[in-house]
Amino acid sequence: MIQVKNNEQLAMMRKAGRITGEAILVGREHIRPGVSTWEIDKAIHDYIVKCGARPSFLGYGGFPGSACISINEEIIHGIPKKDRYLNEGDIVKIDVGACYRGYHGDSANSFGVGKISDSAQALIDATRESFYRGVANACAGKRLGDIGSAICEYAESKGYGVVRQYVGHGVGQELHEDPEVPNYGTAGRGQRLYPGMTIAIEPMINAGTSDVKVLKDNWTVITADRSLSAHYEHTVAITDDGPVLLTEVR
Ligand code: MG
Ligand code: MG
Repeated sequence: MIQVKNNEQLAMMRKAGRITGEAILVGREHIRPGVSTWEIDKAIHDYIVKCGARPSFLGYGGFPGSACISINEEIIHGIPKKDRYLNEGDIVKIDVGACYRGYHGDSANSFGVGKISDSAQALIDATRESFYRGVANACAGKRLGDIGSAICEYAESKGYGVVRQYVGHGVGQELHEDPEVPNYGTAGRGQRLYPGMTIAIEPMINAGTSDVKVLKDNWTVITADRSLSAHYEHTVAITDDGPVLLTEVR
């Protein structure tokens, strides 16, 4: 069932969203060749706690980190580790959730480590652009298929694969609520959007095939063909005045 948020709840989600967005920036500040993903996770954890919030992912389904940190062909759900280091030329995805007074924010971004290839940068740029194509449709009266089809058409026009096995979702008092928000679909179809809905829109875009595999750790999702993948996510409120990006920090 879709949980509609009133203005008071939206104010709380704004706060959770800001902490989440700031935590991503804290993670970004720590990106450099030689740093471990554990160190980045620790900085994110400490920042969220300092803000009086709780890392949403820590312990979620048994997940051991506060952030999912995924490198290169890893799409999502990478586990932070003390012996996993970033290398020059990698692309790293940082996915963070923060829970403030019972409300969650959820956001992810993709970053280059040092100098990255033009093709890696193009993938990151197209993934971000696909998100903005999608969120432009996150308006009351539109439908989920309008968001998904806008994301998918743009990414596929660039020759990329759009992950279908993992999707965006409602977010609020639960990290994952109804409805599912796929990064594909048919314009004009699916759940209608209305004010008070809060959803995480999160395209996962692969340089090659859209097919995925899960590693033996039962968490890390990788591209089946080991091509690079990028991820971009914000928590978005549907309002009478259009979409509001709750996790975007400027
Ligand atoms: Mg996320
Ligand atoms: Mg999410």
